[in-house]
Amino acid sequence: MILAVLEHDGNTLKKGALEAVTRARQLKEALGGEVIGLVIGHGLDAVAAEAKKFVDRLYVADDAAFAQYNAEKWTAAAAAAVQASDARVVVASASRTGRTWTARLAARLNAALLEDTLESWAEEGKILAKRYSFLNRVTETQAAALPVVLSVKPNTTPLAEPAGEGSLQPLSVELGDLEARVEVLEVVKEEAKRVSLTEADVVVSGGRGLGSPEAFKQVEELADLLGGAVGATRAVVDAGWRPYAEQVGQTGKTVQPNLYIALGISGAVQHQAGMNKSKYIVAVNKDAEAPIFKITDYGIVGDVNQVLPALIEAVRKR
Ligand code: FAD
Repeated sequence: MILAVLEHDGNTLKKGALEAVTRARQLKEALGGEVIGLVIGHGLDAVAAEAKKFVDRLYVADDAAFAQYNAEKWTAAAAAAVQASDARVVVASASRTGRTWTARLAARLNAALLEDTLESWAEEGKILAKRYSFLNRVTETQAAALPVVLSVKPNTTPLAEPAGEGSLQPLSVELGDLEARVEVLEVVKEEAKRVSLTEADVVVSGGRGLGSPEAFKQVEELADLLGGAVGATRAVVDAGWRPYAEQVGQTGKTVQPNLYIALGISGAVQHQAGMNKSKYIVAVNKDAEAPIFKITDYGIVGDVNQVLPALIEAVRKR
């Protein structure tokens, strides 16, 4: 049995959940058994209705105690689902939250942890996985005997499509004294102006070719018009033009949007590693030989400071 723990935002599954399902299905082909899903939270009717379309069976841990994320509670819920299902492999997104509870779960189950993996497969009863190592300078392949907890590096894996209708099963989780250990006193939510970079359908990224931090005002404008997120290269981030959180690439975030617009970006391999799985790639660069053009669907050879305002104008007119 393979357990896929499915992240959601309270209404709908996140991309990371659909990546976890894809990996779980790949392992099911080699290992057999079922893909069992688990959703954790409170008020999960809508999420469960969607999630059951992706798995053979779905556990629903729906309780007021799960209204807010807590690594220890998530670990307890996943452990309960493992016990109920006899799962030998647990797959989840290596999202910010996923990283905190998957490590705990592996320790609790005395299982191997294959963390932040780029791809995974089964061979001779073992699970193998690739991941970056040594500050992302090398890619290593690891092998682990079952049981295994495996986390999926966000935006590395095709998103699963729904396939049928799995059965629903409520899951009761014994939380013991977990409630008492950490008490959340207050939650202040920042009103996010833009969609998150790793979840965005459109990413507009800028490189050193933009010439100045001020030029990013127009990058933001185009991203806002397209309902997308802003990304940047490491050169830009290192220069202090943009925050580190916006860096796309091998040592930054990996993105997989429908549309990636690269403005004044050379397309170094380290940048490509974070965006080359995007569905459509558009680039503007004044150098027709720039490596970015090797992976673009649409390329514009020109001065970004002239092309970008024209792009904004064209999108406004739509
Ligand atoms: P440049 O390489 O300087 O390219 C600027 C481009 O803009 C050029 O192609 C130029 O032709 C074009 N240009 C200039 N003026 C204009 C204009 N007016 N109009 C149109 N085009 C113009 N980089 C990342 O991005 N992400 C990473 O995660 C990352 N990780 C790294 C990890 C390691 C271990 C190492 C060694 C490097 C890493 N890098 C990473 C750095 C990477 O190698 C490149 O140096 C970086 O991506 C270059 O950024 P850039 O394209 O903005 O700048």
